[in-house]
Amino acid sequence: MKPARFDYVSPTTVEAAIEALVASNGEGKVLAGGQSLLPLLNFRMARPSILVDLNGIAGLAYIEDRGDRIAIGALTRHRDLEHSQLVASRLPVMSAAMRHVAHLAIRNRGTIGGSLSHADPAAELPMLSAFYDARIAIQGPNGRRAVAAETFFVDALTNCLEPDEIVVEIEFPVLDHDGWAFEEVARRFGDFALASIAVSVRRGGSGLEDARIAVMGVADTPLRLREAEDELLALGLGDQTPERFSEIVVSKVSPNEDLHASAEYRKHLLGELSKRALRTALASTERVA
Ligand code: FAD
Repeated sequence: MKPARFDYVSPTTVEAAIEALVASNGEGKVLAGGQSLLPLLNFRMARPSILVDLNGIAGLAYIEDRGDRIAIGALTRHRDLEHSQLVASRLPVMSAAMRHVAHLAIRNRGTIGGSLSHADPAAELPMLSAFYDARIAIQGPNGRRAVAAETFFVDALTNCLEPDEIVVEIEFPVLDHDGWAFEEVARRFGDFALASIAVSVRRGGSGLEDARIAVMGVADTPLRLREAEDELLALGLGDQTPERFSEIVVSKVSPNEDLHASAEYRKHLLGELSKRALRTALASTERVA
């Protein structure tokens, strides 16, 4: 199919892009990598009156070291995140997850701002932003505001943006952890995840001092499992820890059934991935020690 008619503008500043969105009275759409939006236009599931193309705006694509945080411009492509040495050294879970994002051609065009705004519950970057507790900077006609990732994702394919707001930057706090893992199952490599988990830990004394857990594909939004983090710290480390951890993680989710998988199957996958992820995370702390 072909899209319905739309106007097109290519502003060179964020302010001009916002003006174009305001002028469209809620009928405009921002265009970033186009990898999710263009299929929606072609299927006529979206019929914007105007496309506001961000690609002509200089200075929206960067990966910047800010000490305890890494700032990423909204127009940064997936492929740049995948190959960034800075991301590999400071945000290793993101680095490991990026090769699971779609296929090379899509990673060449897709952007972090587009992925977050599209808010697919089985997409890696939304999950990573929940995992790292990222702050999402949003610009609109009334200036700039920042929201936590967990506030940004409202429902499947639904975010908290007003129609005339644009995501401009995402700040990821660097975790002071010494072991981590990212595990995912998709029907084919590069497809959206059926289930996935990210785990990161810091060892201390005979147990764990800190833990971070996020999952995707098992709810309408990506989830950071804060209760499970506390329960993992309380478990202590022993032979049965991965098994118990898996039960804890699975008890925190209620996946939906859809044409890709039943709810039970997604839970089963998440349980297996949880065991594997914790074992890998713990093994990597031993390598660091
Ligand atoms: P666009 O398609 O340009 O825009 C998507 C939406 O976000 C639109 O509503 C647009 O208006 C809005 N938007 C874009 N940028 C902004 C902004 N800065 N501020 C406000 N709103 C904005 N993704 C995964 O994570 N994992 C996968 O496994 C995966 N598999 C895929 C497989 C296929 C076959 C395809 C086609 C896509 C897949 N994707 C996957 C999605 C891909 O990562 C997209 O690139 C991404 O979701 C959207 O990014 P984009 O820059 O292309 O955004």
